[in-house]
Amino acid sequence: MTDKLKEECGIFGVFGASEAANLTYLGLHALQHRGQEAAGIVTSDGSQLHIQKDLGLVQDVFDAARLNKLPGDRAIGHVRYGTAGDGGIKNAQPFAVDYGNQPIALAHNGHLINAENLRRELEGQGAIFFSSSDTEVILHLIAREAGEPADRIAAALQRVEGAYSLLFLTDRQLIGVRDPRGFRPLILGRRGSSHILASETCALGLIDAEFVREVQPGEMVIIDEEGVRSFFPFPTRPLARCIFEHVYFARPDSIVFGQSVYATRVEMGRELARQHPVEADLVIPVPDSGVPAAIGYAEESGIPFGLGLVRSHYVGRTFIEPTQSIRHFGVRLKLSPIADVLRGKRIVVVDDSIVRGTTSRKIVKMLRSAGAREIHLRVSSPPTVWPCFYGIDTPNRQELIAASHTLDEITRYVTADSIGYLSLEGLRRAVGSEDGSGYCDACFTGRYPIRFPSEAPARHLKVVEG
Ligand code: SF4
Repeated sequence: MTDKLKEECGIFGVFGASEAANLTYLGLHALQHRGQEAAGIVTSDGSQLHIQKDLGLVQDVFDAARLNKLPGDRAIGHVRYGTAGDGGIKNAQPFAVDYGNQPIALAHNGHLINAENLRRELEGQGAIFFSSSDTEVILHLIAREAGEPADRIAAALQRVEGAYSLLFLTDRQLIGVRDPRGFRPLILGRRGSSHILASETCALGLIDAEFVREVQPGEMVIIDEEGVRSFFPFPTRPLARCIFEHVYFARPDSIVFGQSVYATRVEMGRELARQHPVEADLVIPVPDSGVPAAIGYAEESGIPFGLGLVRSHYVGRTFIEPTQSIRHFGVRLKLSPIADVLRGKRIVVVDDSIVRGTTSRKIVKMLRSAGAREIHLRVSSPPTVWPCFYGIDTPNRQELIAASHTLDEITRYVTADSIGYLSLEGLRRAVGSEDGSGYCDACFTGRYPIRFPSEAPARHLKVVEG
C-alpha cells in the first residue's frame, strides 16, 4: 500500500492511574502510526496480571467490554506492525508469563540482533518458545536469573545486543529500559500523580499528561509506590539513535531525541531547497508525511506551497495484502490529485523517502495525468540503500531502488523531470549533528553501529519483529 519503511512497534505504560487500561488505550491510539496490525494491553491489580490482545487497529481490538476486563491502576500496551506470515496473534504483544511465583509482562520496540543465537542456546537447554519473536528470548533469560525483577531484567539484558526500548509490568512495578545506544525513543511523562512511559510524546497530549524527560540511552526507570528511580546498569556505548525517526517514523507533533520532529522536518525541506533548487510554480507534499519538509522547501525557495494530492484517511493499512499487483491499486485508493491545482503548472513534489520507487512512479503518473506540466521530485532524505536490522521492516537490498540504480535510472523509472535527494550532510545538519555523531544512519551509509553475530545465518537477520 505504501512504499515506506515501517516502524514496527509502539509502547505505552502507566503507573498509579485509576483508569490505567483506558489511558493505555488512548496512548496506543496516539501511537498507532508505529504499528497497525496488532494491539494489546496488560494491566496489574497489584496481585495478578490481566491481558487482552488481538490482531487489528487499537480501536478495533478494544471496546468497552474488553477494557472492562482490564482492572488495576497500572498497565503496559503495545501496537505492532508485522510482516505477512510471521505468526499473527502468537507474536502480538505484550507477552505475559509466570516465572516462579511471579507474573511479568513485556512490551518491546526494536530488534535484538543476537536473538537467534540465544534462542538456539536456550532451546538446546530445553526451553520451549511460544512465539517466533526475538522478544521472547528476554523472558527466558529473566527466568534464569535470581533476585528482584529489576535485577533479573538488568542481568538478562546484559546478554542481548541490538535495539530495545522495553516496558515491563510486574505485580508491583512498571519498569522501562532503553538500550545503551538509544536506537528507539522512550519518554517519561506525568499526569497528576501517575507516571507514564511511552515511545513518543504525542501519546501524552491525548491524555492531558505532561512531558517530563527522555529516558536516557542505557537507563532503567523503575516506577512503583515509592516513586520513580533511575539506574544505569549497562556499559556505556556510542549513541546510535535512529535518524529515520526524524525523517519519517515519528509523528510530527512529537519531541524525539530532544528535538521537535516537525522542526527537523521543516529544516530538511529547507536544506533540500538549498541543495536542489528548481524553477517551479508550486511546491506540494506527498501527504501526510511529506508536509513539513514541503513547507520548509516552499519557505526557503519562495515557491508557493499548495495541496495537489489529497490523502484518504479511511484506508486501513490492513485493507489488502501487500502484493505487487495490489500495491498499484493501493496508491490510487490512498492518494488523489486535485487537477485544478496542478493543471499547466511546474510542480515540486516533496516526499520523505523512496524505498522501491513503485509509489513514486504512480504518484508522478497521477500528477501528470491531472495536468502537471513538469514534475520535480524532491526527497527529504538520502537514497535508502541498506536494510535496517534494528526494528524497522525493510525490503531486502535488491528491492531498494537506490541500491542498484543511478539517479538517472531512478528518474527515468519514476518518470519525473528531475529528482533531488537531501544529502547525508544536509540531513545531519537538520537534526543538529553536523558530523552525524549520536545517530544511526546505516540505511543510508551501510555503517552499522552493531556488528552481526557471525554464527547467525543471513535469513535470520530479516527483521520481522517489533
Ligand atoms: S538503519 Fe536506518 S532505520 Fe534502522 S535504526 Fe539505523 S537509521 Fe534507523
